Amino acid sequence: MNSEEKIEWNKCNNCGFLQHKSHLRCLNCKHTEFSLIEASETCKLLTYTILKAPPAEFRDQNSYALGVVEFKNGIKALGQIITKENLKTGMKLKPIYTKICDNLDGKKVYTYVFEPF
Ligand SMILES: [Zn+2]
Repeated sequence: MNSEEKIEWNKCNNCGFLQHKSHLRCLNCKHTEFSLIEASETCKLLTYTILKAPPAEFRDQNSYALGVVEFKNGIKALGQIITKENLKTGMKLKPIYTKICDNLDGKKVYTYVFEPF
């Protein structure tokens, strides 16, 4: 797997705060050195919504579920859930790396989606 196929966050080497890799300094203590932490295998659903007016890239779908999940080691992620049925906060999900759409230039877009199990 290359790096874009993993869900990773930075863990602050000073205070242990977990945050997205896009930040240059720790949001908690301003430290600038981090360790890369990979999401653990499964996660739970924190909250979700059903998008009924999807963006143009998802023109082949009338609606889809979008959720925020939390992995056991504290990493959180936002992504599509492969079903709209029987969703419940706290339920267990697992990430699947897959093609989610063709963008407006016709390129295939790959990312993580979440599947109940
Ligand atoms: Zn810190």
